[in-house]
Amino acid sequence: MTKLLIMGAAGRMGQALVRCALDHPEVLVAAALERSGHENVGDDAGLIAGCREIGVTICDNREETKPAEVMIDFTTHAVVRENMDLAVKNRLAVVLGTTGLTGEDREAVKGAARKVPVVWAPNMSLGVNVLLDLTTRAAAILGGSYDMEIVEMHHKHKLDAPSGTALALAESVVSGYPSDLPPDKRFRHGREGHSGTRTPEEIGIHALRGGDVVGDHTVIMAGDGERIELTHKASSRNAFAGGAIEAAIWVKGRSPGLYNMRHVLGLDEL
Ligand code: NAD
Repeated sequence: MTKLLIMGAAGRMGQALVRCALDHPEVLVAAALERSGHENVGDDAGLIAGCREIGVTICDNREETKPAEVMIDFTTHAVVRENMDLAVKNRLAVVLGTTGLTGEDREAVKGAARKVPVVWAPNMSLGVNVLLDLTTRAAAILGGSYDMEIVEMHHKHKLDAPSGTALALAESVVSGYPSDLPPDKRFRHGREGHSGTRTPEEIGIHALRGGDVVGDHTVIMAGDGERIELTHKASSRNAFAGGAIEAAIWVKGRSPGLYNMRHVLGLDEL
């Protein structure tokens, strides 16, 4: 059994993590933390997640991490540094999914990873990580002879564009076929007006927004007389929570270091 500390247990991802953990035979929710003053402090983490009572109270006392072995952090970048300190102090392995990290936050994560094992990925979905890998492999096979375009769609409340995952897919294309141009010179965000003919070097990135779409990403590879479309669609947060739970099982007992979902999935060994 891998014993989990869920940070931000009353948040959207925190609740999804508790639900997924309750369905998984190899993990146990051992502790649940929330920010001080959150309305669900004192409530049962299982009930807040919409499941059964599990006897784990959501608390705001940061000393209450026992008997957890792995911290799963989907909170906000502003608290990532203090969460890393907590993990190091209590010798907890870490699964970090929180996005929007500043340079300073990133340095703190790297510092923590020198002392405890940390899996850090902006997208924990197993499917998206396979898509990233497939994209690199296809780009390496097709070379510069196919035109690469990336289209993403998210719900109307999303604040940033393009998504971090779309950018990661574009980086995957770049890593697949060599070019002297730096990535930021290759990425072409949307087109309008007299945009000119397409250059072979560019990678088009297009962001659609609307409704309640959790997250769709398509990589289009267009050649003469044919095209390939690789698509991933997330229909619920379970996709991210499930990946995070697998990462927690994988990271327990590892040596200190910074890992990502490629390591968890063993993609480099395939
Ligand atoms: P949310 O706002 O619903 O939940 C965040 C929770 O963290 C809140 O309940 C908040 O009270 C809590 N929190 C804040 N400070 C805290 C502290 N000091 N200690 C404990 N808890 C604290 O947000 P969300 O939709 O669940 O997303 C959370 C983060 O996860 C975001 O950064 C989001 O971008 C990221 N995310 C990552 C992935 C991925 O696959 N890596 C997927 C989805 C979301």
